[in-house]
Amino acid sequence: MPNSRGDVWTLAEVRDGAIHSVSWELLAWGRKLADKLGSRLASVVLGSGVADKTDSLIHHGADVVYVVDEPELATYRPDAYNAVLVSLVKEYKPEIFIASATTTGRTVMPVLYVDLETGLTADCTGLDIDPETKLLLQTRPAIGGNVMADIRTPNTRPQMCTVRPRSKRPLAPDANRRGEVIVKRGAAADLASIYQFLSFDREKAVGLPIQDAEIIVAGGKGMKNPKNFALLEELARRLGGSVGASRQAVDLSWAPYSAQVGLSGKSVTPKIYIACGISGAVQHLAGMSAADTVIAINTDPDAPIFRVADIGIIGNAMEIVPKLIDMCPGGCGRKGGEAR
Ligand SMILES: Cc1cc2nc3c(=O)[nH]c(=O)nc-3n(C[C@H](O)[C@H](O)[C@H](O)COP(=O)(O)OP(=O)(O)OC[C@H]3O[C@@H](n4cnc5c(N)ncnc54)[C@H](O)[C@@H]3O)c2cc1C
Repeated sequence: MPNSRGDVWTLAEVRDGAIHSVSWELLAWGRKLADKLGSRLASVVLGSGVADKTDSLIHHGADVVYVVDEPELATYRPDAYNAVLVSLVKEYKPEIFIASATTTGRTVMPVLYVDLETGLTADCTGLDIDPETKLLLQTRPAIGGNVMADIRTPNTRPQMCTVRPRSKRPLAPDANRRGEVIVKRGAAADLASIYQFLSFDREKAVGLPIQDAEIIVAGGKGMKNPKNFALLEELARRLGGSVGASRQAVDLSWAPYSAQVGLSGKSVTPKIYIACGISGAVQHLAGMSAADTVIAINTDPDAPIFRVADIGIIGNAMEIVPKLIDMCPGGCGRKGGEAR
């Protein structure tokens, strides 16, 4: 058991040379935890050319920012990132260390917790402090999303977890907040890597990543084939939105995994979610039921998706979606998709 309580840490993420907004969401979670523990909230930034980019972290709630700014950290390389983080944790001994359940967080944290010989709860949807034990309560869906489990890490430190992106809004930034910035050098042994960075190829998709989209046109197995699925891309393009998918549609390779909405995909909070040929399994609902307005198109009037829909259209998506496309600006009288 630890002798004294350390700080709450969050892992900041740098994308395209700037601090990404998931870092601020994490600070909103971390602020609540640190305040309940009476400890400081720290954010950790690894990268190259990032030392002067710490202000936004302090404005969004960090008391301390640890920066390791080295050319070797310009791109993510698992061994170097892990070694630098292990050294930092061993030196400063945080009580809690949280990261976002993004590709970065999901890659960094599982390696880190093994080396630190502690535990990790992945993909939490809620975090709190147990008022009696002061342990971190890590809440996440379990048993296919049918129950919510509260998980604790009583015996080892830090208590580590990843949190679903978009599970909390960032705190309003306060440009007058002041904090401490601690710039560390990475040890040569830590920065050495067996990996060589070759290139970063962006996935081609309509619109923003679904986590950032205000309108999502999502499709499921009821779209029948990839050609019909392309109708959804057209509708999304006309609406200025992005394309989402059920796991069935992703498994059928009609959409990339990055478009998957749900328990084993992404949680989304758009203003409008249009579900086309999606039954509404609990695992899918887990990722989209926080949408402001849900519009469902389904041939089956008893489909569970209608229970969460604000507007339900009982009918063939291959007839309805082309009509919606025609109603959008720039509609061009497309023919309907193939129903079979
Ligand atoms: C551990 C675990 C994790 C999972 N994670 C996820 C996840 O992250 N995301 C996810 O989506 N699922 C997930 N699933 C799978 C989930 O249980 C469902 O199997 C899946 O969501 C169903 O996808 P679907 O709605 O596209 O297909 P189906 O359930 O087959 O539904 C197809 C729907 O299309 C309708 N339809 C048919 N023809 C038409 C038409 N012409 N026009 C309109 N509607 C039509 C049908 O009435 C039906 O409702 C997970 C499952 C498990 C066990």
